[in-house]
Amino acid sequence: MRTSVYNLYVWDFPKQGNAVVFNTRTSALLEMDLKTAQGLKRGDLKGLDPETLSLLQENGLVVDSEDPWEELEASKEDLRRLGLDVTLLTTYECNFACPYCFEKGVKRPSYMSLETAGKVLDWVGSWVRERGYPAVSFTFYGGEPLLNKEVVEFFLASAGDLAPRVVFFLFTNGSLLEEEDIVGWRSAGLQEIRVTIDGPEDLHDRRRPFRDGRGTFWEIVHRLKKVLPIVKVSLNVNLSEEGYSRMDELFRILATELPVDRIASLIMSPVIPAVADLSNRPYISETLVSLFSSGGAFERLVELVRKARGYGFNVRIPLSRFACPLLVRDGGIIVDTEGSLYKCSSMVGHEEFRIGTVDRGFNRKFQEFLSLRPWQDCPKDCPYLPICQGGCRLFSLFEAGDLKKSFCRRDFFDRYFPEIVKLEYEFLCGAS
Ligand code: SF4
Ligand code: SF4
Repeated sequence: MRTSVYNLYVWDFPKQGNAVVFNTRTSALLEMDLKTAQGLKRGDLKGLDPETLSLLQENGLVVDSEDPWEELEASKEDLRRLGLDVTLLTTYECNFACPYCFEKGVKRPSYMSLETAGKVLDWVGSWVRERGYPAVSFTFYGGEPLLNKEVVEFFLASAGDLAPRVVFFLFTNGSLLEEEDIVGWRSAGLQEIRVTIDGPEDLHDRRRPFRDGRGTFWEIVHRLKKVLPIVKVSLNVNLSEEGYSRMDELFRILATELPVDRIASLIMSPVIPAVADLSNRPYISETLVSLFSSGGAFERLVELVRKARGYGFNVRIPLSRFACPLLVRDGGIIVDTEGSLYKCSSMVGHEEFRIGTVDRGFNRKFQEFLSLRPWQDCPKDCPYLPICQGGCRLFSLFEAGDLKKSFCRRDFFDRYFPEIVKLEYEFLCGAS
């Protein structure tokens, strides 16, 4: 019996003399006194009473053995048991002209036809049967998915019996939301919608204008007011450099204009480069530095989470596994307007990353992705291994021009993780 190498320790938290320990393999988060935590870290388990020892074992903080690679393979099976997430691009077209859109370079006036939608439905059905998924969730995505309501409604009406449990989500820019639609779609299984607002009016309108240049901020807020009583809404914020300093203003406006208790969650994330940016190396390097450096974008996010919580928003930074979906057969799949299949939303529309089509099934690219093992060069005792697994493949493509290499930011994790463990503790215990 020994101490897990995947324990992360946050000392003198939540108060002097205590510690919180997070295990990256099991996602267990335990508070204990400093002496127990120090003993655990040293591997000195002799002084522990049987009850404490069994609690530590149950949560994976103390183990008989642990082989991360074996477990990484085994965890893929968990994804199959959770079900299939299908992201559907009903169109590449959008009525907004956001300068940072990650679909730049692939946007085109392409809409999914009802004929293709039928083929997608058949293909998803056969994939669900083959893999035995107990549940399917469909996310309508774009472009702006509501520019093709016909296909949204086709799936809502026809996909309900593909698996024992089928649910629907809608990611929209919010400008075309109609109360009557949402009422009908709710009864067909729509669970939640997600709408993006990037800052207070002037900032949002510069970043997310209509194609004719008009602002969209109040149009969205106005429509949200109407649908919030009917459906769960999550708000998404893409953080720009200017955005960090303007978030307080945005939280205040939203908390005044909208019923915060009806907003399911607030999701904030920095804008990351897109595949189309690969030809602009200086931009890619500069952005990667600004994301992961000390005091960079991700670290500043921690402060914003606390601010947003102060206004009553439900906001978290996920601590659990975020294995790159590119490397796993199950989990999620993205289907575009023409029935092409992708694994990574940032790669959608780029043919070189297509993993198949609904007409012909999976291609060799899919096998190539599944055979990637970027964690194989990582030390087995890296405490982040279960959740990092060698990092995002897209970032490694940006950095090294090679999907096979690991994208290691262990120094960043060392600084960032204690902070997000604290945020999670505060969330779970209602402390601030
Ligand atoms: S890429 Fe770095 S941080 Fe991630 S698991 Fe490997 S060594 Fe650890
Ligand atoms: S390559 Fe990166 S962005 Fe794409 S699916 Fe993997 S982790 Fe996500």
